[in-house]
Amino acid sequence: MVSDFEMDTDDLIVMAGGGGFIGGHVVADLLRRGHKRIRSVDFKPVDRWYQAFPEVENLELDLRDRDACHRAVRDARFVFDFAADMGGMGFIETHKADCMLSVMIDTNMLLAARDHKVERFFYASSACVYAADKQAESDVLPLKESDAYPAMPEDGYGWQKLFSERMCRHFSEDYGLATRVARYHNVYGPHGSYDGGREKAPAAICRKVINALMTGEHDIEIWGDGQQTRTFTYIDDCVSGTLALMASDVLEPINLGSDELVTINELVDIVETIAGIKLKRRFNLDAPTGVRGRSSDNTLVKQKLGWAPSIPLVEGMQKTYRWIYDEMRKRSAARLAGRR
Ligand code: NAD
Repeated sequence: MVSDFEMDTDDLIVMAGGGGFIGGHVVADLLRRGHKRIRSVDFKPVDRWYQAFPEVENLELDLRDRDACHRAVRDARFVFDFAADMGGMGFIETHKADCMLSVMIDTNMLLAARDHKVERFFYASSACVYAADKQAESDVLPLKESDAYPAMPEDGYGWQKLFSERMCRHFSEDYGLATRVARYHNVYGPHGSYDGGREKAPAAICRKVINALMTGEHDIEIWGDGQQTRTFTYIDDCVSGTLALMASDVLEPINLGSDELVTINELVDIVETIAGIKLKRRFNLDAPTGVRGRSSDNTLVKQKLGWAPSIPLVEGMQKTYRWIYDEMRKRSAARLAGRR
C-alpha cells in the first residue's frame, strides 16, 4: 500500500554510505527531484566517492562509531542506511568477520536515529538473507519474503543483514522508530566498483571482456561452471523501488529485485554481443560462486507497492558496459601519459 507520505524538498535527508554505489545514485536522484538538504556520509575520502555533489553536505565519518552516527543524523528527518563493508562473492566469502562488523554501523545508526527522533529510517538488506537450502539448484523457485525463515542465510554477510533487519523491526515495535527494509537482489550499473575485489558479476564480466578487447587476449576466466543462475537489478529500478518503499506503509522486509533469470554464461553472452566479440571461456571451478540459483519473487512488492523492476538486463548492461569501457579507457590513457 502506498501512503500519502512525502519527503519535503526542505527536509534534511541523511545518506549513510553516500560515497558508495547505491547511496550515490539515490543522492543524485533526490537532487534531480529538487531536494535541497542532503547530508551524505561515508568513511572513504570524498575524492574516492563514486559520485560526490558540491551542493550536498559531504561528511567523512566512520559510522561504526557511536558519536559519528550522532553527528551524522543530527536534525535529520529521514535516514537511508547504505553503509556496509561489502562486495561481490569474492569479497564476502573471504571477509566474513568484516561483513559482520557492519552490525556496528547499523546498530549505532539505529540508536542515533531513535535518539534524534528521526521520522523514517530506510535499511538496505540483501537477498543473501535467504536460506541456502532454497537456492541449491540452478532451476530455482523465485524467493519469496517468507523464505528467509527458518534462517540459514549466507555465512557472515547474510547473517549480519538478517540481524539488522530484525533490529529495524524491534526498534519499530519497541521504540516507535518507523523503519523500511528492502532486500536487494544483485544491483548493477554505472558508478560502482568494477575491479579491486569488491565488484560483482555484471561489472567483473564487463571488465574482463573490455580487457580482452584492449589487450587482444581473447580468453577469459569465469567463476564456476557458468551454469549458476541469478537475476540482476539495474540501478535506476533499485532507486525508484527504494523511494517507493520509503514512501509506503510496508513494515516488513520486501524484495527489490528483478526476476529476469539468467545463467552466468548467458550474462557473458550478453556482454560479448555488446562488445561485438566472442571469447574463449576458462571455467574456474575453485572460485567463489555462492548459491547455485537465485531469483526474486515479486508477488508481494507488486501487490503492496504496485511496483516492479522494468529495465531489461540487456538495456542495463549496455549502459553499464559503456560506463566501464569509458572508465577503463580513461585509466589506460592516464597510464600512458604517465609513462611519457
Ligand atoms: P558500496 O560498497 O558501493 O557502498 C557502501 C558504502 O559504505 C561504501 O562507500 C563504503 O565506503 C561505506 N562504508 C563502509 N563502512 C563504512 C563505515 N564504517 N562508515 C561509513 N561508511 C562506510 O555498496 P552498495 O552496492 O552501494 O551497497 C549499499 C547497501 O546495499 C549495502 O548495505 C549493501 O549491503 C546493500 N546491498 C547491495 C547490493 C548490491 O548488489 N549492490 C545487494 C544487496 C544489498
